[in-house]
Amino acid sequence: MRSLVWFRNDLRVHDNTALHAATRPGQSDDGCIALFVIPPTQWKRHDYAPVRVDFILRNLVVLSESLAGLNIPLRIVHADREEEIPPIILREATEARCAVIHLNREYEVDEVRRDASVTSLLESKKITVCAHHDQTALPPGSVRTQENKPFTVFTPFKKRWGVFHVEQGGTPVLPAPRAQPLTSVRPSPVPKSLEGFACLVDPALWPAGEEFAMKSLRQFARERIDRYRSDRDYPAIHGTSRQSVALASGVISPRQCLDVAIEANGGKLEGGSPGPSHWISEIVWREFYVHVLAAFPRVCMHRAFKPATDRISWSYDENNFERWKSGTTGVPIVDAAMRQLNRTGWMHNRLRMVTAMYLTKDLFIDWRWGEKYFMQNLVDGFLASNNGGWQWSASTGTDAAPYFRIFNPISQSRTYDPQGEFIRTYCPELANLGNEEVHEPYSEDSGVAPLRRSMLDYPRPIVDHRQARERVLAAFKALGTP
Ligand code: FAD
Repeated sequence: MRSLVWFRNDLRVHDNTALHAATRPGQSDDGCIALFVIPPTQWKRHDYAPVRVDFILRNLVVLSESLAGLNIPLRIVHADREEEIPPIILREATEARCAVIHLNREYEVDEVRRDASVTSLLESKKITVCAHHDQTALPPGSVRTQENKPFTVFTPFKKRWGVFHVEQGGTPVLPAPRAQPLTSVRPSPVPKSLEGFACLVDPALWPAGEEFAMKSLRQFARERIDRYRSDRDYPAIHGTSRQSVALASGVISPRQCLDVAIEANGGKLEGGSPGPSHWISEIVWREFYVHVLAAFPRVCMHRAFKPATDRISWSYDENNFERWKSGTTGVPIVDAAMRQLNRTGWMHNRLRMVTAMYLTKDLFIDWRWGEKYFMQNLVDGFLASNNGGWQWSASTGTDAAPYFRIFNPISQSRTYDPQGEFIRTYCPELANLGNEEVHEPYSEDSGVAPLRRSMLDYPRPIVDHRQARERVLAAFKALGTP
């Protein structure tokens, strides 16, 4: 028997459920081949950022080399239109004489439909499709309330997730895959770039490969995880793991992350040291959002998790949106954060919340615009977490920030970037202002002398926070209690 492994957002050989299943003894006695389909149209429609596409292509090079070491050739095929994907998979499987296809499930609506079409076509030709759960440590649908419903609030989800994790004996990392018999199939070259996805971010910022991802995870666990709880909210400190990049493309698995964190926590999932145990909670947040997305497909379809909030008459002010995107709103912490995103393809979590709150509450712009812009620019764009984060910030989602909890961006700036270090990194035009002045240079109380203020090459704020707050409170109150 010969098997085919269809790789998607799971670009690694270690702890990969589909690859592990395909390479078990007896599964691929006549060898195993791997396939990756590049679907530019689907990636465009799903707002894949050029920096993310570049990261995927560079990871495919590494994956292809690692698979070659296991005698598994990686075939790479382009599908210009989405309808071409099922016949392509059939053609590749038939030409390579594969009787079984292994894949790791994806839970977004379009991906579920795509996999259903592929499965029905292949099974009609007597090719078996084995779909595995791999994207989360515990499969979507497995963590449910006592009433057998999906959780919609994080804290009880996390509690039940923890119990289930222990009940099933943890989520151990899979053994390394075994080398397979040689086949005559030749691996394909990996394209260096893709038309329509010109990457303007320096690729050196995001090294490819699971070896690098694992090394940086271990380094985080050795050097920073113990301070994670206290450092994680300060964007000027390199206090978080940055594993979101590898996780989003599946270059590392959540099980590998948990394994390293649990070890750093003295073998404990909960309790133990504050740093590792808090970091484990963040991995569970990721699990939560994937479980929510799988249970409530409407969140993939541009709809609010809380349907009543879809009645809000959001603003669609193009000028304000442009100012937000380009980091020229006149609020230094927001502008610095947006420039970090535009320049590096990544943004610190605290700032994702601050910029999302600012767009939806201060500018009162539809969260869907912000969600899309993030996806179009993030190297770690991941629909479940991005949608979850945006709907949390807009107070339209699961476990959302109550609508009356509106971040004051200046207070956030003073609290989380007290010396203005982060602001100065991305807003050099404010570099000469003092620690007190840098958060709100045009305020009468900022301490900036009027003459210096008039010489600043930096925009004045486009909205008044207090007035904006009143507008958003009134809009949510008018809904009754969403
Ligand atoms: P760490 O602090 O080291 O956390 C470890 C891991 O836990 C992260 O890599 C991530 O996988 C997970 N995690 C941490 N915080 C969250 C969270 N709030 N929700 C879900 N998972 C979390 N994360 C993405 O991976 N992709 C996105 O597209 C994305 N968009 C976001 C949009 C908004 C508006 C907000 C508020 C959050 C978003 N997040 C997203 C979640 C979070 O901001 C990032 O996961 C985090 O900043 C990544 O940095 P890190 O790997 O250093 O995180």
